[in-house]
Amino acid sequence: MRAAPEWLAPSSLEEALALLAERGDEALPLAGGTFLAALLNQRLIEPACLLSLARIAALGGIEGGEELRLGAMARHRDVELSPLVREGWPAVARAFGVVASPRVRNQATVGGVLADADYASDPPAMLCALGARAVARSAAGVREIPVEELITGYYETSLRPDELIVEVRVPRADRAVYRKFRTRSHEDRPCVAVAAARRGAETRVVVGAVAGRPQHFPELCRDGDAAEIGRRYADAIEPIADVRGSAAYRKRVIAVEVRRALEELAT
Ligand SMILES: Cc1cc2nc3c(=O)[nH]c(=O)nc-3n(C[C@H](O)[C@H](O)[C@H](O)COP(=O)(O)OP(=O)(O)OC[C@H]3O[C@@H](n4cnc5c(N)ncnc54)[C@H](O)[C@@H]3O)c2cc1C
Repeated sequence: MRAAPEWLAPSSLEEALALLAERGDEALPLAGGTFLAALLNQRLIEPACLLSLARIAALGGIEGGEELRLGAMARHRDVELSPLVREGWPAVARAFGVVASPRVRNQATVGGVLADADYASDPPAMLCALGARAVARSAAGVREIPVEELITGYYETSLRPDELIVEVRVPRADRAVYRKFRTRSHEDRPCVAVAAARRGAETRVVVGAVAGRPQHFPELCRDGDAAEIGRRYADAIEPIADVRGSAAYRKRVIAVEVRRALEELAT
């Protein structure tokens, strides 16, 4: 049997980045552990070492201003319940607040949900619709990655192995909505998720949980009524089939849920 992974628990971001630079992809960052624990328990991964982010105070916190700043280690429950987020970015509070159960939300983090790039997660579509950027740091420097470029496919991101997400910056919108369509239990992941945001004359509609990355077609939103745009999204997306619905079923749901999201956005 393979030895248990080495446990690294730096207390500063600089120390964590130096360890990542030194160990390369041998060291796997560990945030809330809700995704990694399942992979480790089933022995789907056997990392040489785990780099716990839990002691790094600089990765926590939620701050507001022109933009919302969510620390990578902020928990879903912190985002859901934050008066600041509820007041200025209510659709973000909602997208984090409909994830699984309070037990999962008390553990799962903002950085973890973006870095695991699960196609059926709730927050990524909302963050894409709002034009949010992830701030990634390595020992070599810092860069901002729009969330729509961060998630590149099923469980794949454009992060380098020596980079950590340190925070997520979310611009304000005039109005935004998040709709989660479930086909199984109330605590399940979405069959289809639709996030929509309006800023000035621009409307962004992003469909999640139907393909490897959030689906966004700016050219389809420029004219037409809500029902027409819903039909266009259903035509444009080639949805996956999984336990939550077939591809044909998802196409029908996309048309309806995009229309409903746009109608809600207009109220
Ligand atoms: C029972 C259950 C139900 C769920 N239902 C839903 C649901 O309905 N909707 C939904 O959206 N999600 C759902 N989830 C998914 C859950 O939200 C994710 O597992 C969670 O967001 C991952 O966050 P974490 O902090 O636990 O990440 P971890 O498990 O600690 O890490 C996940 C991945 O991200 C990497 N990572 C973590 N933090 C960083 C960072 N700062 N920088 C770089 N890489 C990093 C890790 O190395 C790992 O590869 C569910 C999970 C469970 C267990």
